[in-house]
Amino acid sequence: MTPVPRNPEKHPSFFDEGDVVGVLTTQPLDRRLDYLAPEGGCFAGAFVEVPLGPRKVLGVVWGPGEGTFAREKLRSVIRVLDAAPMREEMREFLLRAADYTLTPMPAMLRLATRSPELGDPPSMRTIYRLGEAEPDRMTEARSKVIAVLEEFGDAAFTLGELAEMAGVSTGVVKGLVKQGAVREEASPRDLPYPPLDPGSAAVELTGEQAAAAEALRAGVASGAYETTLLKGVTGSGKTEVYLEAVAECLRQGRQALVLLPEIALTSEFLSRVEARFGARPAEWHSGITMTERRRCWKMAGAGRAQFVVGARSALFLPFRELGLIVVDEEHDTSYKQEDGVLYNARDMAVLRASICGAQVVLASATPSLETWANAEAGKYRRLDLTARFGEAVMPQMRAIDMRAETLPATRWISETLRRAVEARIAAGEQALLFLNRRGYAPVTICRACGHQIGCDHCDARMVEHRFLKRLVCHQCGETKPIPATCPSCGAEGRLAPVGPGVERLGEEVSAVFPEARVKVLSSDLFGSARALKAEIEAIAAGEADIVIGTQLVAKGHNFPLLTLVGVIDADLGLQGSDLRAAERTFQLMRQVAGRAGRREKPGLALLQTYQPEHPVIRAILSGEEEAFWRAEAEERRQAGVPPYGRMAGIILSSPNVQEVFDLGGEMARRSDPLRRIGAEVYGPAAAPIARIRGRHRVRLLVRAAKGSPLQSALAEWVGQFRLPANLRLSVDIDPQSFY
Ligand code: ADP
Ligand code: ZN
Repeated sequence: MTPVPRNPEKHPSFFDEGDVVGVLTTQPLDRRLDYLAPEGGCFAGAFVEVPLGPRKVLGVVWGPGEGTFAREKLRSVIRVLDAAPMREEMREFLLRAADYTLTPMPAMLRLATRSPELGDPPSMRTIYRLGEAEPDRMTEARSKVIAVLEEFGDAAFTLGELAEMAGVSTGVVKGLVKQGAVREEASPRDLPYPPLDPGSAAVELTGEQAAAAEALRAGVASGAYETTLLKGVTGSGKTEVYLEAVAECLRQGRQALVLLPEIALTSEFLSRVEARFGARPAEWHSGITMTERRRCWKMAGAGRAQFVVGARSALFLPFRELGLIVVDEEHDTSYKQEDGVLYNARDMAVLRASICGAQVVLASATPSLETWANAEAGKYRRLDLTARFGEAVMPQMRAIDMRAETLPATRWISETLRRAVEARIAAGEQALLFLNRRGYAPVTICRACGHQIGCDHCDARMVEHRFLKRLVCHQCGETKPIPATCPSCGAEGRLAPVGPGVERLGEEVSAVFPEARVKVLSSDLFGSARALKAEIEAIAAGEADIVIGTQLVAKGHNFPLLTLVGVIDADLGLQGSDLRAAERTFQLMRQVAGRAGRREKPGLALLQTYQPEHPVIRAILSGEEEAFWRAEAEERRQAGVPPYGRMAGIILSSPNVQEVFDLGGEMARRSDPLRRIGAEVYGPAAAPIARIRGRHRVRLLVRAAKGSPLQSALAEWVGQFRLPANLRLSVDIDPQSFY
């Protein structure tokens, strides 16, 4: 809790009982509501419960009320919640993030209050400590309990923990409590996180690493805002280096946040933190329990979670004294939230840090073009790690020209790739076959009539998943059994899978390499993050010869025995009209190739492609990254698209197809507010996926010059229209994907 000043009336942001205050609630209203400050008064930023109609809702005291309502009609704040008031800088962050993403404030507040029982007094649990009295008689079991308590000094344990550590039944502990030899106490359930020791167990950094670490440490010590791109090939020690920045942040007594893109990565990362700092950091992601969620939220606000590791929404935790935000694998597309509030955690990290005077480290082997360009322009500092740590060298990369290979239509592993895999297995090494397609086959087609089985609710083809024995829609998740007859012409037994997914590739591998131990890594094949983690550990320990994987494997895992990566279809990402197709393919291929040869043995990456002379494929193979980014940047500059121009995507969706097109047309016609800032409007057009979950989707695209006031123009433009009841409009600033 923030200490209450002795003389509350003198505090500029304190409201006395009965003062009119403006409260922002989490309810979807377009304005703040006036209430009377409760008995005892309240601070600006206080989390409060207020009456709204018959309900009680959560809100934050935002400032003085508007006073447009007659005082006697105002209701009073019900109570001030037992949580540290929202800090001024957090309120500013939410306001500016809302302005940037054109998100209503209540939705921003919901992001910032994603903790259960936020305002409840701390819940209690029973803990056990050493008592004063001697037990009447000392048994062996009893002495074990006493020994544990003595060994750990003032530490407190739950009943279960204590019994387990002593290796006795809980009855023994209870017996000692009766005697007064062990004390039973109530203690708050949400304990602070164990302290981290920045001085413990650092590795000895190489010259290049040490220079980068020193630069980051100096940044943190300055106490000012700055963003640094930390670019280094996979295995170059980026993590080791930014953990030194975390250490400096801990030394300064400020809090550090590391954002990771993938939950499966967290446990590997947590162990690493534990090895470095002697204890685990706080965790924040969708996989933690409600209790952990509440604990993390509260402790972040109390300044008692020094180091939080989390997914993108951790940016909205109420940190008390944030000094550093690391965005690891900053190019990862999962940082862009694609439903609800559409924000990019990387950009929001920079915003938040600039408000609270913190350092940002964007770490990647293959940065996003946005970040690369910001570093080029001198807005971000750039530090490079050019060499892999230790003996490891970057893998060689070569193309396999598929035009010269002869393969039957239901096989995907070329003879060249097959021989390469065979050689690695013979040498006791591992090979990874990469195919970014989940399931068995992307298309199921009727050989009698040509019908392709689609989703009933979406404009998407159903993907066969043999493992699940079902067809799955990758848009809405709808599944159905694989029909025996064609739903279109009724022909029996004529449905056939077309094209490969990882499951089908698995069949081919088993047929081609009958002796090999094969593992398929795809997010949908595992019931839990834990099962997936176990599989990854098994692979790292050498329990597979061939690994087949989707982009899940491209991310950060260490497989020491892996020396060969075969990309089944390097052309896959180059199809389509996406602005970022080239960038994505480049990043993904470099990342996947980076899985090979992480230890002493040199790695090789083979890319199966039908267009080896494609500029992107050539750039990937040559490894001339800077040349690739410069060329890509030049193309975008010519086209006036991000990061050299601004874009916003508008998606209208409704069950009523007529209504979406009508409104889309009207929006295109009445676009004066946009034209006034020189912006162009494209569309309306059916979105690339024209129907999802039964809703028809129409898209407009707005493009404006860099530096133009896009958000205010968009707000004015969108504000002109009344939306039919069931029509949803969402604005996506800097859209990442166009679907
Ligand atoms: P990146 O984050 O760039 O992929 P990591 O920091 O994960 O690289 O380093 C790759 C591996 O090399 C890790 O196992 C790491 O512990 C090890 N490593 C990196 N630098 C050093 C060092 N200076 N001393 C010891 N081990 C190191
Ligand atoms: Zn669907």
